[in-house]
Amino acid sequence: MLSYLHAFHAGNYADVQKHAALTLALTMMQAKQSPIACFDTHAGSALYDLTSERARKTAEADGGIHRLWRVRQSLASADWQLMLDTLSRHTVDGSQLQSYPGSPAWLAELARPGDAVTAFELHPSEGRSLETWAVGAGVRVMQQDGLQGLLKRLPPAQPRLLTLIDPSYEIKDDYAQVADTLVRAWQKCRHGVYLIWYPILTSGLEKRLIDALEQGSVRKILRSEVMLDEPPERGMVGSGMLVVNPPWGFESRFEAMMKDLQGSARLGLTASQTWLVPE
Ligand code: SAM
Repeated sequence: MLSYLHAFHAGNYADVQKHAALTLALTMMQAKQSPIACFDTHAGSALYDLTSERARKTAEADGGIHRLWRVRQSLASADWQLMLDTLSRHTVDGSQLQSYPGSPAWLAELARPGDAVTAFELHPSEGRSLETWAVGAGVRVMQQDGLQGLLKRLPPAQPRLLTLIDPSYEIKDDYAQVADTLVRAWQKCRHGVYLIWYPILTSGLEKRLIDALEQGSVRKILRSEVMLDEPPERGMVGSGMLVVNPPWGFESRFEAMMKDLQGSARLGLTASQTWLVPE
């Protein structure tokens, strides 16, 4: 069962949080010269038209990247600049955003010649769009299960590892599977940086992932959450990121970025950050 299409959600507040974490982690890792293997286990189709029928149907980007773009000049953290510079190339005349890069496009944008980017996508039509986009982007596309695919490729040939795990959580079992995959991946590559996105739901289903990791063996897990100040009665009320082995200094820089999203004049979110599991 694969019915989720990210085009309905691209550029929402969860993407803002997720791609801020991804771009900050990768650029901080690139402070050292050694090559990085980047894996995107649930890649989507890479590039999203914000004017498409799908995007306009939910208008989720209005509460996310469009709002960030409107307030871009008042953001306190200098770490937004990299995302903003990239986004400026997704406007028609430098003002209105027309398209939004998904996670493989952010990775392709930032990867250096020695870094390797591998993107997994299981949905047939999303996988085909991803393949078409990837021609010339320097990204290896694998149309297969991202969690199993990741485990098969660890440890990577490159000395360092960055992994984004961003499932659609269409199946309740996904939460336990993500926790299990992280443990197995970490056993194969303990120094890797792993970013895991999860929705915060009124049903509380995401606690399956959080509880499993809190009681598990993986160390050094930073937990960031942004909650909607005006949440819906049911469904997704916030967005969470877990960052295993964040680069040194990431904690305070990412916290500052998330603080920029707070309040009704910004993205209408309240941000919090703690260590789910310390070192
Ligand atoms: N990471 C993307 C981004 O940030 O732009 C968004 C990904 S979207 C939340 C999740 C994607 O995972 C969907 O495109 C879905 O088709 C895909 N997917 C679902 N199950 C999968 C699996 N087992 N392996 C790989 N991809 C899968």
